[in-house]
Amino acid sequence: MTEFELIERYFRRPARNAVLGVGDDAALIAPSPGFEIAATVDMLLEGRHFFAGAEAEALGHKTLAVNLSDLAAMGATPRWALLALALPSVDEGWLAAFARGFFALADAHGVDLVGGDTTRGPRNLCVTVLGEVPAGKALRRTGAKGGDSIWVSGTLGDAALAIAHRLGRIRLEGADLADCERALTRPAPRVALGLALRGIATAVIDVSDGLVGDLGHVLDASRIGATVDIDALPRSSAMAAQLAGAQRDIALLCLLAGGDDYELCFTAPRARDAAIAALGARLGLPLRRIGIATAQHAGLEVRDASGHSIEPLPRAFDHFA
Ligand code: ADP
Ligand code: MG
Repeated sequence: MTEFELIERYFRRPARNAVLGVGDDAALIAPSPGFEIAATVDMLLEGRHFFAGAEAEALGHKTLAVNLSDLAAMGATPRWALLALALPSVDEGWLAAFARGFFALADAHGVDLVGGDTTRGPRNLCVTVLGEVPAGKALRRTGAKGGDSIWVSGTLGDAALAIAHRLGRIRLEGADLADCERALTRPAPRVALGLALRGIATAVIDVSDGLVGDLGHVLDASRIGATVDIDALPRSSAMAAQLAGAQRDIALLCLLAGGDDYELCFTAPRARDAAIAALGARLGLPLRRIGIATAQHAGLEVRDASGHSIEPLPRAFDHFA
């Protein structure tokens, strides 16, 4: 199969949102009047971001999901995607499954695949997503104020627990294992939440590298501090069981700094607390108030059940650290 046959068979779809999609030298897209374009790219490298032999359909889902999560954190509506693929060989079973996972999520969010690049090489999946947001209305990291409530969607640390299990550091079983594996391989980007937070949140970030690091980025960008209660951090039953077990330290590390959560962490004035709780109910997505922003640019303090600061805080995952 040639490169062109491969693109034709697996990645060329009629474009609904674009003037011109796959097949020419570049796609043509027309942004809606009065909107700005939000653009983001994420690369997933075999052996670094996913295990060799990872299931192709789940990879198709995840490569798009991590980008949709970034757009959600900007309050942008995702519209167009580009897919750059390096593949060691043409494996049609792999390609069909990858495309199935990718397009299922793309269709669920009305995203058109409008272009890409395909080359032979060590497996590397790189997706660019473009979205739209009304001019001036994007949610940034910079707007949090002292006194704001700090919120997190969903639960934290489950994907990291799945990795810890695969590496033999902890032991998960039954429903706990299935829940954590799903969090790792099928993250659900919080697109509807991001859109609903426009006009409510003062700052938003998606938690991809762990809460400590990512909330830390908001604090630095907004030049504030924060106090968070460890007991307020939203956790799955798998996480609760691990925190109560012999590997509590590993579970705590996963909860605070595990990464791969793709939940949204955001700040909003306290006067919006009730509105945000109602929003969570409307979206069917648990939203948890985890702490409060402080006016001093003094970093993040995480308190344990007896009110003591946890120090040092575990560091976020950093590929170059
Ligand atoms: P060029 O050599 O002009 O850059 P290519 O031969 O790389 O073009 O690609 C031909 C067309 O197929 C282009 O429209 C490109 O965007 C698209 N394309 C290539 N690879 C992919 C892919 N993996 N997914 C979607 N579109 C792709
Ligand atoms: Mg060309």
